[in-house]
Amino acid sequence: MNIKIMHLYPDLLNLYGDRGNIECLRKRLIWRGIDAEVVTHTCDDTSFDISDVDIIFLGGGSDREQKIVCTRLLEHKKELKDFVENGGSLVAVCGGYQLLGKYYKLEDQTIPGLEILDIYTEQGKKRLIGNIVLKSDIIDEEIVGFENHGGRTYTGNYKPLGKTLYGHGNHDDAGAEGVVYKNVIATYLHGPLLPKNPQLCDHILKNALKKKYKDFTELDPLDDELEHMANRYIVERFCGNGGKA
Ligand code: GLN
Repeated sequence: MNIKIMHLYPDLLNLYGDRGNIECLRKRLIWRGIDAEVVTHTCDDTSFDISDVDIIFLGGGSDREQKIVCTRLLEHKKELKDFVENGGSLVAVCGGYQLLGKYYKLEDQTIPGLEILDIYTEQGKKRLIGNIVLKSDIIDEEIVGFENHGGRTYTGNYKPLGKTLYGHGNHDDAGAEGVVYKNVIATYLHGPLLPKNPQLCDHILKNALKKKYKDFTELDPLDDELEHMANRYIVERFCGNGGKA
């Protein structure tokens, strides 16, 4: 078995070391004896072929970088939409999450999005920054991470990635964070999202393997004891004692 992962625009959308998430996807396949191929598509690449790609990763960026990347990204709007509608796995983080929607409205400009999701983002007054903990129904363990965004994302009736137990999420009083749609995971949690949340990483890998290999059933377990302990520590720190950090 093998899985092909594409890191989209790592030259611009890499705000908090998103490459670590790619490395996590790759390593958790290799440790199980599954081949993993990682390719990048940067602003300098002219051809765009995702026909044999299984997982696409779109990372976070500053408003300035999002403005630059958006024109290039929109050239591939149809291919990316078809990829998602056909069950391809797409992980979009922060700036990447915002770009999946209809638009990201800034004070002086509106950045058009890919319209893969019927959501929109507007810049708020203060940035929403800090640790965040979610309860998701797609995995057992709480999802832990860090958010830092000026945009507020309005997600309509989409299923969120999780209920916000601590932190802000999609917008100031959303009570929910991210979007799950088909095999898309879109979230404001950036930096080491997948190393911190190996169950989420495995969820993404399982979806991709199930789509590609009809007889695939389950991933072999890995020793995640340290990751589990780190996760418990963060959940206890921010959500223990009635959620008071
Ligand atoms: N530029 C976007 C915002 O501030 C996304 C930031 C990010 O990717 N961390 O809302």
